[in-house]
Order: sequence, then structure tokens, then C-alpha cells
Amino acid sequence: MKLYTYLQDGKERVGAERDGYIYPVKNAEDMLSLIRGGEVRISDENGIKADEAVLCAPIPRPAQDVICLGINYTEHGREAAEYNKEAFLRERPYAIYFSKRVSEAAAPGAEIDSYAGLVKKLDYECELAFIIGKDAKNVAREDAPGYIFGYTVINDISARDLQTDHKQWYFGKSLDGFTPMGPCIVTADEIGYPPVLAVKSYVNGEPRQNSSTEYMVFDPVHIITELSQGMTLKAGTVIATGTPAGVGMGFDPPRFLKSGDEVVCEIEGIGRLINKIR
Ligand code: MG
Repeated sequence: MKLYTYLQDGKERVGAERDGYIYPVKNAEDMLSLIRGGEVRISDENGIKADEAVLCAPIPRPAQDVICLGINYTEHGREAAEYNKEAFLRERPYAIYFSKRVSEAAAPGAEIDSYAGLVKKLDYECELAFIIGKDAKNVAREDAPGYIFGYTVINDISARDLQTDHKQWYFGKSLDGFTPMGPCIVTADEIGYPPVLAVKSYVNGEPRQNSSTEYMVFDPVHIITELSQGMTLKAGTVIATGTPAGVGMGFDPPRFLKSGDEVVCEIEGIGRLINKIR
């Protein structure tokens, strides 16, 4: 099932898609309460055409910082190390976790500030994100898939200069607008496990990333099992699984984003997340 947050009469609503129409869900105020409630009851109100709906990010205001995986595709590790050895070249027997502040996730179609006075090296990262469906602590590997509520697309927009200057990636990944999300959440039952989905991005129509989630180094089961040994992953937690090769810093010379560029992040079975740089 595809779940959306969308605007109707200026108000955010949660809906489910059926035959090209989005119908409001009647038992939830917002997506987080729908996830925590665990059941989707579709109302018999009139639906609206999915391709005409004004979409918000599926989780417009995550309850906590988004958890991210760094360098979770081998080819992306290689291009990052070529761009900046000191920052990115290392052996990686363990997953790299960092987080991203998201006061408000940018909607599909939203313009993203380029922060011209602050950022000179603005980059895109198309990523599969998964959403935890129930509080997870000490989860066994075989149970881990059952903790995944669904999947969405995130563009992990990154200011490479802030990211490397400050050593910790938090600031360079967390500027307002740096987490476009959407267009929907596809529930886990529809994707199956493990997710094997094409991951692609385009800048101004030109293909940049073209890979598959099957090449992910640490998969959602690994991530849930490992993190939940010591921390509770609350229902509604968003975890971005890292990006494949083909980001702007991977080109020689690098091809960073500039004002007016259109970035499309596309994941098979979920959809296209399109944003323009302001
Ligand atoms: Mg990333």
C-alpha cells in the first residue's frame, strides 16, 4: 500500500492510494500516529487523483533526528575517498552511523535553499529509507524484518564543504530543507525482504546515479539488529541506508548543485522525488 501525507483545504491529511486515487485514512491524525497505531482504515470519503494531490513529505516532522548510514555502497566509498582521502578513506568493518536534524522534511516539489553565502559545494544523495513500525530493542535477526513499517525515498542533501571542514557530518547534512522525502511510504509487505530496488538520480534530466539496493553493504536487518542491542528504535524512526556512486563529488572535476538545478531521486516501486535548487 502507498501512504501519503497531502494537503487538503490547507490541512495536512494522511491517505492511502487505490487505483490512482488517494483516500483519507480515518483512524490517524498524521503519519506518525498511523505508524504507531499499526492499522490503516481507509474512509469512504471521496478520493482525490494521486497525480493532482499537493504532497507533503510522508513524515513531515520526524519525531527524532533521522539516522543515516555513511559510505554504505562500496563504489560510493571509492569515489568519496578519491574526492577527499583524509575525510573518507578508511577500512570499514563496521557500519558508519550518523544523524541528520530534520525539523521539517522538504516536500516533493519543494524548492531547496542553496545557502549561497554559506555553502559552495552542494550535493545530492538518493537513498532508500526505511521506517521503524514498532519500538525495537534487542531484536533478533530473524525478527528484524517485522519491525519495518515501510520504505520511502530520501535525498540526503549534503554541503560537502561544511561536512569535511567540521569533521563531524551533522552540520553539513542538517541545514533546513536538506531532507526531501517522498513521494510516499510503501508498506513493507509490498516490497518484501530484502528490498532489491533500482536506485537512480538525475540532475536536469542527466542520469547521475544508477544502482540497486542489493549492493548495500549493511542492510536493514543488520542495522536494526545492531542498533537495537543498545538503543531503542522508536516506532516512526526514519533510517536512511546510504547512497550509491554517482554523487557530485564523485566526478572529476566535481559537479556540485547550483541554483536552478532540478534533482530527481527515483527508487523502483516507490516513485520519483523531485526538487529544485533555489
Ligand atoms: Mg547519505
